[in-house]
Amino acid sequence: MSAAEANRGVSGDAPPPLVGITHLDDLWFQAGGTLCNFTCLHCFISCSPHNRSFRFLTLQELRRYLAESVPLGVKEYYFTGGEPFLNPELVPMLVETLGYGPATVLTNASVLRDAWLQELADAERKSVYSLEFRVSLDGFSAESNDAIRGPGTFERTMEGLARLAAHGFLPLITAVRTWTMAEEPAVLDGFRCLLRRRGIARPRLKVLPTLRLGAEVQRTGGYAADERVTAEMLELLGTSHLPCEHSRIVTDRGVYVCPILIAAADSLLGDTLAEALVPYRLRHGACYTCVHSHNLCANPSAGR
Ligand code: SF4
Ligand code: SF4
Repeated sequence: MSAAEANRGVSGDAPPPLVGITHLDDLWFQAGGTLCNFTCLHCFISCSPHNRSFRFLTLQELRRYLAESVPLGVKEYYFTGGEPFLNPELVPMLVETLGYGPATVLTNASVLRDAWLQELADAERKSVYSLEFRVSLDGFSAESNDAIRGPGTFERTMEGLARLAAHGFLPLITAVRTWTMAEEPAVLDGFRCLLRRRGIARPRLKVLPTLRLGAEVQRTGGYAADERVTAEMLELLGTSHLPCEHSRIVTDRGVYVCPILIAAADSLLGDTLAEALVPYRLRHGACYTCVHSHNLCANPSAGR
């Protein structure tokens, strides 16, 4: 089935509900492709040191999309991967983006260098826009984090957090919920104590649901056939919180509907941003998680 046929919904059943994009507020860049120095067991796009299915974006590609984003009124830019800092052009890419709007980079913080952070801190100081770091950490001890993210990853990320703090950045920690809701208050307390102990005076945390795609399918199983979005569900829960309702992601292959579905062929929408501003049918299991979660991809608002 072609992407166009899939978007029209050609099966015998009622087609999955369609979500249009009201405004392109957030533009994501798959800057690190699918290459990562970690091999996390829950990685929903199975990034690893060997996964080169998406390559790094280049500074030249970034410039083309930044220019296209201006008349479309994009408000914020996000950089992800893989590990974006493996891309040798990431620092100039972030510096360039700070001339257009606020930028956020999602990183495991394990390969950061002082010279890069100094350059980024200087660029942020000269810009009217902010640069945010979102650092992934999945436990408040080496034991709990490394069970998911791999041996030694806890200490490497903690060193990165200390470097960020030393350069004046206040990273937002993201943790994928691999614990029960009953355990959550104790886990969040554990994170806050750890971060304060390690010199992060005002810890900021964002807990994310697991997305049962990629490597996570081996860990916990994928989505059941009936875990799909229905029109009734959308009517009840709304669409304004869905990343596909106000964002798109640029990869080396073109523009996809959202950062979650880049491995799904039907979510490649076009080569330009303009081509990609089309409605999309929520046919994937991950859409079910999105619809039931709030604020999955964007930064939390101040004070939350
Ligand atoms: S979850 Fe993040 S750090 Fe872990 S393998 Fe995937 S991209 Fe790398
Ligand atoms: S995974 Fe989420 S953001 Fe992506 S298309 Fe489905 S609902 Fe939209």
